[in-house]
Amino acid sequence: MHDTWQVLVAAALGLLVGAGFVAVLTVVARRSRAATHVAGNGVPDGVAEVLDAMESAGLVVDQSLNVVKASARAHQLALVSNGHIVFSELIDVVNRVRHTGESVSEEFELQFGRFRDATLQVSVRASVLGSRFVLLLVDDRTESYRLEAVRRDFVANISHELKTPIGAIGLLAEALTTAADDPEQVRIFAERLTAESGRIATLTQDIIELSRLQAVDVVANAELVSIDRILSAAVDQNRVTAELHGIELATSERSDAQVYGDPRLLITAVDNLISNAIRYSPDGSRVGIGARVNDGVVEIAVTDQGEGIPDADQSRIFERFFRVDQARSRATGGTGLGLSIVKHAVQNHGGDVRVWSQPGRGSTFTIRLPQADAARVLATAQGETAP
Ligand code: ADP
Repeated sequence: MHDTWQVLVAAALGLLVGAGFVAVLTVVARRSRAATHVAGNGVPDGVAEVLDAMESAGLVVDQSLNVVKASARAHQLALVSNGHIVFSELIDVVNRVRHTGESVSEEFELQFGRFRDATLQVSVRASVLGSRFVLLLVDDRTESYRLEAVRRDFVANISHELKTPIGAIGLLAEALTTAADDPEQVRIFAERLTAESGRIATLTQDIIELSRLQAVDVVANAELVSIDRILSAAVDQNRVTAELHGIELATSERSDAQVYGDPRLLITAVDNLISNAIRYSPDGSRVGIGARVNDGVVEIAVTDQGEGIPDADQSRIFERFFRVDQARSRATGGTGLGLSIVKHAVQNHGGDVRVWSQPGRGSTFTIRLPQADAARVLATAQGETAP
């Protein structure tokens, strides 16, 4: 009989590599019905090992609803307490399987936490195991539900963001046709058409950049990058706008810092911070840009004397399409994606971005990146390829 169970365990492990779950449940059930030899608590031999090897949280429940076996994952998800199933939804499933003998496959939202304010999205499969037990397998789907919700939100936001300029272009084109005989009107409408199509172009560019950044391994072919060069390139890209608003771009002295990464992405990240600093500051103010190395970490700071960001919004500004002031952002050509792009670009480099801000006083955004390892820098300088 031991051999039988070894076959069963092997079959279930085979399932983990891709075969169907139902097949194994059936095998487990059929074998266990036939089994006469059971381990101490009555659970057929091998079941415990199979459960521990599975990614799903696994529970074996007896006729009195005692949990006679729970895998480590089941404990991690806190499905069991004092030998009993914690969630009434799961107990209902077990009872249904016991009474009907039919397998059950369902999805639930389980409430947990002291005030039942946290949720766990799970998919649950259950089947009889021999004549005395019910086998329950639970998969945590919380993260995939969350990602799906984020994706839906993103698509909804994009549609909303695109609708405004596309609608405006349609109306302006109509207005142009009507005003064909009035050169002054034609000039005004044409200018607005250019502005709206520019807005679509920027938005599309930002969406493409963000999608690219969210793909894995954007920085697969990292090269040794001089931070001083990144800063001066990003400053150059903002010089004209800064001059237009009488804003001084003050750079600190060279840092000689180096990181491994993608120079184009790093320039985009710093460029976004500087253009925000200009956009949300009064004319004639000052924006400071500098970098330093602190304990193996390269810190790039962009400081402004602008309107600042309320405390409550500081944790949200890196979300896609979040703006403190919708109208202000739109009026100044913002897409609501700039800081999201910064966040993903630096995360792709193993770094992060932080904000310090006080309404009315200004803001400092700090990008932190791992400094290029000194030994690797030397090796690269001597002609070896950087990984
Ligand atoms: P946007 O294109 O709207 O600027 P971002 O993602 O770059 O989008 O920024 C999100 C929001 O964070 C902005 O709409 C603005 O409200 C706020 N913000 C970003 N940078 C600054 C800054 N330097 N000073 C004040 N507010 C800022």
